[in-house]
Amino acid sequence: MSFTSLRLLSSRAIKLSANSKNAAFQFSRSYTAASTPAQFATIDENPRGQTQMAFGREIPAVAKNATGELRFDWKKEEIEAIYHSPIMELLYHGANVHRLHFDPLAVQQCTLLSIKTGGCSEDCKYCPQSSSYSTDVKAQKMLDTDEVLKAARAAKAAGSTRFCMGAAWRDLAGRKSNFKKIVGFVKEIRAMDMEVCCTLGMLNDDQANQLKEAGLTAYNHNLDTSREYYPKIITTRSYDERLETISKVREAGISVCSGGIIGLGETDTDRVGMLHTLATMPAHPESVPVNALLAVEGTPLEKQEPVKVWDMIRMIATARIVMPKTMIRLSAGRVRFTEAEQALCFMSGANSIFTGDKLLTTPNNKFNADQQMFETLGLVPKAASFKIDLAAEAEVNEKSECCGGKHDHA
Ligand code: SF4
Repeated sequence: MSFTSLRLLSSRAIKLSANSKNAAFQFSRSYTAASTPAQFATIDENPRGQTQMAFGREIPAVAKNATGELRFDWKKEEIEAIYHSPIMELLYHGANVHRLHFDPLAVQQCTLLSIKTGGCSEDCKYCPQSSSYSTDVKAQKMLDTDEVLKAARAAKAAGSTRFCMGAAWRDLAGRKSNFKKIVGFVKEIRAMDMEVCCTLGMLNDDQANQLKEAGLTAYNHNLDTSREYYPKIITTRSYDERLETISKVREAGISVCSGGIIGLGETDTDRVGMLHTLATMPAHPESVPVNALLAVEGTPLEKQEPVKVWDMIRMIATARIVMPKTMIRLSAGRVRFTEAEQALCFMSGANSIFTGDKLLTTPNNKFNADQQMFETLGLVPKAASFKIDLAAEAEVNEKSECCGGKHDHA
C-alpha cells in the first residue's frame, strides 16, 4: 500500500474517531491494543468498562489526546498533561501524529540571512544584536541587492526551498527606502520559486499588504516565551504588540511563522503557556520554530545552561500534537545536538531545519554534516509549498462551530 493510501486511511480513522463522543476513550483503547502484545496485556477495566490503565499504570495523557485532529480550543491543562507525559510516549505519539499529516521523511531545508545586522533598539535579553549589550556583533548597514540575491541563489542551489531574511529592527518606521528594497528582494526571490519569509519587527497594515502583494509567503514574529515570563526577557515591546503584528500578517493573507526559545530561564509552565497561546490562535501558525538558546557572551543570558535534547523533544512533540498540520522547525541550538539527537527531534515531529553556517549571527551546523545526516537517516528534502492551508482549516472550523458550514461567512 502506498504512503498516500496509508495516510488517507489513517486520516479517515481519525475523523471517525473524532466524530464519536468517546473519541479520546476509543483512541486510548486502540493505543493500548495496538501497542500491547496479547500475552503481555494487562488492561484494567473500571466498573463502567472503560479502559483507564495499562500495565498497571494510568494511560498517559498524550495517548488520549494525540488524535491528529485540528483543534483550536485546547485547554492549558490538556497541553500541560501532554507535555508532562513520559518522554517515550511523547516521542511515539508525536511520530504518529506527524505521519498523519506529513511525509515523515521529508524535512524542509531553509536558509536564514541577516540582511541588516546589529544596532537594534530592542532589549531582548538573549540577543547579541541588541544595542543594549556589549557583544562581538557590530551594527552594519543593510546588505545590498546583489549580496542578498546571490545568497538566495546559493541557498536554492544548496537545496533550500525557503529563504528567510532577518533585520535587527524594532519596526519599519522611517525606513521607507530600505523597505522598498526589501519588497524588491521578496519579488525576486519568489520568482526563483522559493518560499520567502521576512522578520523585520513590527508591521502596520500597509506594510503587510505590500509584502503580500510582492509575493511574501510567510512573516516571522516569534512570541519567544509565555505571556507571564515575557517581561523578564523583553521590556521594549509588549506581548500584545507581538500578537497584533501576527494578526496583521494573518489579515494580509500571509502565513504566520511564530515560535519561541527555550532555555531562557523559563519554567515548564511557561513553555506550555507559549504553546497554548499558539495553539489557540484563530488559525495555527503555518510554521513554529522551536529554538534552544545559544547563550552569547555579553548578553544578560550569557550564563544560561545549554538546553538538554529531552527538553527540545518534549517541546517538539507537544507542538506537533497540539498543532498537527504546522511545520515544526528545529531551529537555533541544533548545532549542539548530535546526529542521533536530531534524529529523535525529527521522529517526534520536527520537519524543517535551517542550513548554512550561520543562523543570523550564531553558529549553525556545517552544510556537509547536514547532507551526511540526510543520507544516514534516509531523509529527503521537502519541496516548497505556497498554500495557506491552516487559515482555510480555521475558517472551516469556525463555520462548523457556528452553523455547521451552512451559511456563507465570506
Ligand atoms: S531579537 Fe530581534 S528585536 Fe530583539 S534585539 Fe535581537 S534583533 Fe532586535
